[in-house]
Amino acid sequence: MTARIREFLKYRIADGPCLVVDLDVVRDNFVAFAKVLPDTKVYYAVKANPAPEILKMLAALGSCFDVASVTETEAVLAAGCTPDRISYGNTIKKESEIATAAKLGVTLFAVDCEAEVEKIARVAHGARVVCRIHCDGTGAEWPLSRKFGCEPDYATDILEHAHKLGLIPHGISFHVGSQQHNVEAWDRALASAAAIFRTCAERGIFLSMVNLGGGFPAKYVRKTPKLESYGKAIFRALRKHFGNSIPETIVEPGRGLVGNAGLIEAEVVLIAKRSPEDELRWVYLDIGKFHGLAETIDESIRYPIRTTKDRDEMAPCIIAGPTCDSVDVLYQKTPYPLPVSLAIGDKVLIEATGAYTSTYSSVGFNGYPPLRQYVI
Ligand SMILES: *Cc1c(COP(=O)(O)O)cnc(C)c1O
Repeated sequence: MTARIREFLKYRIADGPCLVVDLDVVRDNFVAFAKVLPDTKVYYAVKANPAPEILKMLAALGSCFDVASVTETEAVLAAGCTPDRISYGNTIKKESEIATAAKLGVTLFAVDCEAEVEKIARVAHGARVVCRIHCDGTGAEWPLSRKFGCEPDYATDILEHAHKLGLIPHGISFHVGSQQHNVEAWDRALASAAAIFRTCAERGIFLSMVNLGGGFPAKYVRKTPKLESYGKAIFRALRKHFGNSIPETIVEPGRGLVGNAGLIEAEVVLIAKRSPEDELRWVYLDIGKFHGLAETIDESIRYPIRTTKDRDEMAPCIIAGPTCDSVDVLYQKTPYPLPVSLAIGDKVLIEATGAYTSTYSSVGFNGYPPLRQYVI
């Protein structure tokens, strides 16, 4: 917890769970990316946390943005970003959305099939397209799987199709999976990207950019490699596969920019034993899967949870949310150690919750309001 968040929470009148995001941490993270990958532009993946204060600060720092919808495009423009600093990275768009984004000035779109190329050609004449190739997501705690990206062998045909329809084939993109623990995960994708650059060149199409995606981790319970190690491994892979003609590169960190900047303060609603001799307590919080902690699905993301009693004896618990839905359980397969002295009404702090929380919160399921967010 940062000193600024501690100070903020000291004076907050508790009114349900809340997320507090420290902008200073986001700024430090942005600077760290610029330092570790000096020749690579940062496109913040807006979906991680679209709070206007975050977008405004990043826009002022010179960040570019990866958007997935018209609403995100408008939010980024309202924050003071110019359309030339926007990449529309979602490969699944309605034609009407492409048209609106193009009217707003966006000229860079991602595709992963020919049908999407055709939509763009119809409503965004002369746009630049980047073809997304598939990555298997091994090593990632939140893999993006088969949903996105063509087989690398198919990318050249897709980009040639774009060229024939009057679009500008601009480059290749991929995402190695979110919360990626393996710093070498970029190597295989960059090998594929370099091969596509070569086959495109043989057909007279000269690509200029590689979008390295996101995947940079936040620090949860499990240890993660340092950002510097990612930078070094990516640069090594670029050199290995592109030799002396390294293309323009961009990264799209979401989690890596805002994850560790946020903290949720929640409260223990109930501690229950299912039988008198039950060792395993059920601890119910006033926040759960439906209030922003959706990434606990399959217990994928294991958030650090702190209490004021962490020096006391610990015992494993099942942690669950407050709603009447049985999927609203956070940690059960691997029970979570919490202090034996933990009591109803105690505060708990859920750390590293700046990314993929506020927007995952439901709109009033069981009457609970969406997660409150303060950006300080
Ligand atoms: C979600 C997403 C990102 C951000 O991923 P992180 O792992 O949070 O850094 C980047 N690019 C695209 C296209 C995405 O969909």
